[in-house]
Amino acid sequence: MRFRSLESRIVILFIGLILTVQSAGFLAIRGGIDTNARTDIRSQLEIGERVFQRLLQQNAQKLTQGARLLASDYGFKQAVSSNDRETVSSALMNAGDRIGASLTVLLGPERTLKAANVDNAPPSLTQAVLALIDQAERTGSASSNTLVDHHPYQLVVVPIKAPVVIGFVAMAFPIDIRLAADMQELSALHVTVLTSRPDGGWASEVSTMSPADTEAVATRMRGVDIRGGFIPDLQVPSGEFSARILPLANDAGQRSIVVLQRSVSEAIAPYRRLQLTQLLLTAIFVALAVVGTVFAARRITTPLKDLADIAKRFGRGDYRGAIAVRSDDEIGALAIAFDSMREGIANRESEIGRLAYWDTLTNLPNRAQFAIQLANAIDLAKRQQRSLYILIMDLDRFKNVNDVLGHTFGDALLRQVAERLKTQLGGAPVEIARLGGDEFVVLLPNTQLNEARAIASRILKSLEVPISLEDQTVDLGAGIGIAGYPEHGIDAAALLSRAEIAMYAAKKTGNEAVIYNPILDQGSQQSLSMLSDLRRALERNEFRLYVQPKISLGSGDVIGLEALVRWVHPEKGLIMPDSFIPFAEKTGFIRMLTRWVLERSAALCADLESKGIHLKISANLSTRDLLDQNLPQKFAEILARHKVKPSSFCLEITESAIMDDPIRAQSTLEGLHAMGVELSIDDFGTGYSSLAYLKRLPVDELKIDKSFVMNMEGDADDAKIVRSTIDLGHNMGLRVVAEGIESEVVWNLLAAMGCNHGQGYFMSRPIPIDQLPQWMGDWVPPGKTMELSENTELA
Ligand code: C2E
Ligand code: CA
Ligand code: CA
Repeated sequence: MRFRSLESRIVILFIGLILTVQSAGFLAIRGGIDTNARTDIRSQLEIGERVFQRLLQQNAQKLTQGARLLASDYGFKQAVSSNDRETVSSALMNAGDRIGASLTVLLGPERTLKAANVDNAPPSLTQAVLALIDQAERTGSASSNTLVDHHPYQLVVVPIKAPVVIGFVAMAFPIDIRLAADMQELSALHVTVLTSRPDGGWASEVSTMSPADTEAVATRMRGVDIRGGFIPDLQVPSGEFSARILPLANDAGQRSIVVLQRSVSEAIAPYRRLQLTQLLLTAIFVALAVVGTVFAARRITTPLKDLADIAKRFGRGDYRGAIAVRSDDEIGALAIAFDSMREGIANRESEIGRLAYWDTLTNLPNRAQFAIQLANAIDLAKRQQRSLYILIMDLDRFKNVNDVLGHTFGDALLRQVAERLKTQLGGAPVEIARLGGDEFVVLLPNTQLNEARAIASRILKSLEVPISLEDQTVDLGAGIGIAGYPEHGIDAAALLSRAEIAMYAAKKTGNEAVIYNPILDQGSQQSLSMLSDLRRALERNEFRLYVQPKISLGSGDVIGLEALVRWVHPEKGLIMPDSFIPFAEKTGFIRMLTRWVLERSAALCADLESKGIHLKISANLSTRDLLDQNLPQKFAEILARHKVKPSSFCLEITESAIMDDPIRAQSTLEGLHAMGVELSIDDFGTGYSSLAYLKRLPVDELKIDKSFVMNMEGDADDAKIVRSTIDLGHNMGLRVVAEGIESEVVWNLLAAMGCNHGQGYFMSRPIPIDQLPQWMGDWVPPGKTMELSENTELA
């Protein structure tokens, strides 16, 4: 879930709200608990104080009653009057034990100590008694809290009357742990009794707290105002307490206090448990809220996301499939709106598409649509490594028709032409489109050039039948331009413009179907200048005829020459045929060049014959030459002019040249053969012609391509190919020639395999004609003594 998405923002907002409300409540309650608890503690301590005072009063009353009981005892009175010390002592002891007083004393009417239940009654006790004695005499009893020997006591004094005062009884009760424990039981408060030390500190007398806590309390009391003080925060080792201080006794500068303590944490503990529960509930609530809001947010955002995806699809131009409406709320309404928008756009788009890509007159695709179809077809052809062709056709005289017979007639005529095209090409997987005006185009996928040419002539033939419309008959002709992928262009635009160029050329020359050719292309300046260079080369006689000897591998005799052309350029020097022959072939210039070569070769032949040298001259022919049905006749004229027999010539043709247009090639070759000219299949092994087909051709010689021959001494595969080619040629009754012999070893190998003739740098490179006599004089065939049997094992 992305943080900026609507869904996450809804969830974050809700959870944020819940958390804020919950934590505000939590903090408020927490503060409330604290003040409440502290107020509570304060009042508990105040009540505690009253309870403690009450406890002391009760104790005092109990003591007073005990002392009165003794003072009114008849026997005791008698013993006091008769000064019977023994009885008095034992009575004091008994009475003290009975009510738990630790000190019990008797004073005489003259206010002096007469007896005590202990041996040495402390003088501080006597002093304390004396301080109460007047009040006791007046009211019948008196009591106080006092310090005896630095320890706090409760003290009561009552007079003994018989009926005059004959003495005083005083009883002292220690304020000790029992009292503190009682107090704790009653009030749940801790009680600590402290007495002041001369150094200003406090000594702990009695405490319900642990010694460490008590020590801490005593330390804290140092310097505190002890008169009814309240300490809200008393830190001791076991925790935080609140405390209340009550003065207990003050005797001769020495003081005693009681500290009542209430544990704050204990007081807050029940609230804390409550708060923990609250916290737990909050956590559960938040968790539930998260799940709930995520769910709720999803319910809102999922359909929105779906709609966004659909909108993206619209963006890509995909308007298929109705939008599902899942709810009848606002989002449902949005979905319905989207769907009607989708329908509207889709309808308009298809209408626009129809208008933009369709020619309404002929009901054919228009130029824009055709460009798309062509681009797709090129893609496919590229992937399948196939070729395709397009034909662009332009009607002749259509403008005339329009002008003379009117536009309505012109439109009807175009529809008729479209119909003719459809019926002509019906069934075939082709695309027909109208490019505009009277221009039509046909896409022929997966097609070879000769098929394209055949279809073009079929279309032209179909237009030869005059078109009749409204009692009018119109004679229509057309020009067709042909261009193909990948031969003439590799994209739709290039192909269209080249086919158009070819079409204009066709219309200009009246040549009905023209295949694209760079010379037609006025924009192709480079091609043009190259072509004019070649033309000029011919005019200025810059071509040279070189010859390479052909030698019999059996006898070592020179039996022929291959004529190879060279261009001696005035600036660039010697140019090899590989640099210009392909271009000459493409532009058709090759026909002029071939004618030149044949002319010079015939002259050479005649010259040699006149010197008594009988050599067969081989010349090379290209595809274009083969397509020229008049070649045999033209060649015959040349031969006649030079008085050379056709059998002195051999013409070399590559497999691929034949396969470009096998039917026409065959007829040309048959014409040549009929003249008596020998024919050779050049570069054999590099093409893809079928043997069955070659067998039907009237050839005499097979020339193994030099790529196999050059490496045969090191490459066993090449050697095998050469050997089997030789056998194959012999089986077909052909002479076998090897070109590219560069060493004596290869010569020997080929001789051993029975190869008839050879040609190669080992014997001679191609040389200018004038060097031929000298080479012939120098030529010595390798080891004339070499026996075939020596080499048979080598291959
Ligand atoms: P090609 O018809 O196969 O001619 C044989 C080529 O092999 C010649 O190259 C020749 O020099 C070369 N060659 C011969 N022996 C050896 C060798 O031992 N080692 C090597 N590495 N090469 C050797 P060149 O003269 O450069 O001609 C190249 C191609 O140009 C020819 O191949 C032919 O297709 C074309 N060509 C040349 N002259 C003409 C012509 O007058 N008309 C036509 N149509 N094509 C020509
Ligand atoms: Ca050749
Ligand atoms: Ca060759």
